[in-house]
Amino acid sequence: MKHEGTGMMKRMLWIFSLCLILYSCKEPLTEEVQAEIQVIPRPQVITVLEGTFEMTSKTSIKANRDLMVQAEQLRDYLSPASGYVLPINKRHTGGNLIELKLLDELSTLGEEGYEMTITSKKVLITAHRPKGIIWGIQTLRQLFPVEILREAAVDDVAWELPCVNILDKPRFEWRGLMIDYSRTFWNISHTKKYIDALSYYKMNRLHMHLTDDQGWRIEIEKYPALTEIASQFDTVYHEPREREGYYSREDIRELVRYAEARGVELIPEIEMPGHTTEVFAAYPELSCTGDTLSVHPFFMGPGIHNEIFCAGKKETFEFLENVLSEVSELFPSEYIHIGGDEAPKVLWKTCPHCQRVIKEYSLKDEDELQSWFIRQVEGYIQSKGKKLIGWDEITEGGLSGTATVMFWRAGMENALLSAVEQGNMVILTPTSHCYFDYTYDRISTEKVYSLESIIDKIETLNPGKILGVQANFWSHIDRTEPGMDRQIFPRLLVLAEVGWTEALNREWDHFSPRLEHHYQSLDLLDIYYTDE
Ligand SMILES: [Zn+2]
Repeated sequence: MKHEGTGMMKRMLWIFSLCLILYSCKEPLTEEVQAEIQVIPRPQVITVLEGTFEMTSKTSIKANRDLMVQAEQLRDYLSPASGYVLPINKRHTGGNLIELKLLDELSTLGEEGYEMTITSKKVLITAHRPKGIIWGIQTLRQLFPVEILREAAVDDVAWELPCVNILDKPRFEWRGLMIDYSRTFWNISHTKKYIDALSYYKMNRLHMHLTDDQGWRIEIEKYPALTEIASQFDTVYHEPREREGYYSREDIRELVRYAEARGVELIPEIEMPGHTTEVFAAYPELSCTGDTLSVHPFFMGPGIHNEIFCAGKKETFEFLENVLSEVSELFPSEYIHIGGDEAPKVLWKTCPHCQRVIKEYSLKDEDELQSWFIRQVEGYIQSKGKKLIGWDEITEGGLSGTATVMFWRAGMENALLSAVEQGNMVILTPTSHCYFDYTYDRISTEKVYSLESIIDKIETLNPGKILGVQANFWSHIDRTEPGMDRQIFPRLLVLAEVGWTEALNREWDHFSPRLEHHYQSLDLLDIYYTDE
């Protein structure tokens, strides 16, 4: 309770200081001035100053060794379009300057906040932690003329920035996108494009749904048949080759490095106990029946299978622990997602192994058996120093007090409220606002902005229990890259603002013209989108 109180106090202090700064601005923002600040998500506090800063061939970057990665990243962002390869120095060497600096006294800005002051002579980005510097750099990129995103030199643009002071930090810690790699496999370059886009809009989690009935998408050294057999569709379906495949261990390491430099954390999801029939194509002994199954495209078989991991065989847990051990080593993330959704218990009801466990541990029914199953896995994940996330079905049959719950079923309000009441952290991904494989008729771009109504209800009843928000993209319907892009954009920009910007500081009428402005950015980021 004491802990919660401290968190709440900090939050109130932050809001109070924010209001104070907002009201103490000497020159309140006019509509005209605001038009220059087209940043998404909207920074918490913007004070426009007189004048402009111009980047020229004489501009240099100043940073200490602890920010060298960020300084190099900044140079790489600015070089292609401007044609200037800005030198990186520890000291100021003449000309105007972009300086990156960590300051202990900015601890109130947390892990991800930053302050940026632009005068005619200098851009200064300060933060408490390197991640704050990364987000400051993304704001800086958005303040430049949009042509800065071009990959080849542009001659006729003055690289001017408005003089401004920005004080900024995120509202929620988790601002994510889930991509389903199982129903359709997406290659490494497409994933990098998404990491770039997430970073540009300060979204910090890419949740990778790596396993499901339609294919296993990650190499596990101990179980080669997962990639040899379970990553391929059965040949009877004649699926195009590019829809199947997997990431090698080296691919994952490359993606982790790429994402880390851009402030994005990759979160692996390994599904259990359901949505696992692709595993039984390779290792049939892990289900209750032991039948060998085949890997089928989504629309060529049931969406939900009765065959799930047998909860009564010790081989199941041996397999899962070995898999999770390799996954934990590959992904430095704090969290591992274990799925937990849509697991029919029909075979558990008659399986002698499963029934033996129910009896041995005096469990009430098969729902409690799933809860027991998840607790076994959570114990193992915690022994690896990680935390567990599961879909909201993990609340059924008794929820572990330490699990983080990803709420996806829009009608599950009672379970959601009881989870936060119990003290669990939640991530909001409701089908009503966050399922970006749904049509725009069902979830319009503006509707995503109204996720606030759900956030507000939970925050009012149990403040501080929302870890964050996330969009989900399931890849069974849209299976081409442009099709996927159009489902996700521009809705992702809306969610980026909902996740970052305090509610008191934003509104749709202000967001909408900024979004129009960002269509040009999406063009230059090679992203297809719809403006319907
Ligand atoms: Zn069983």
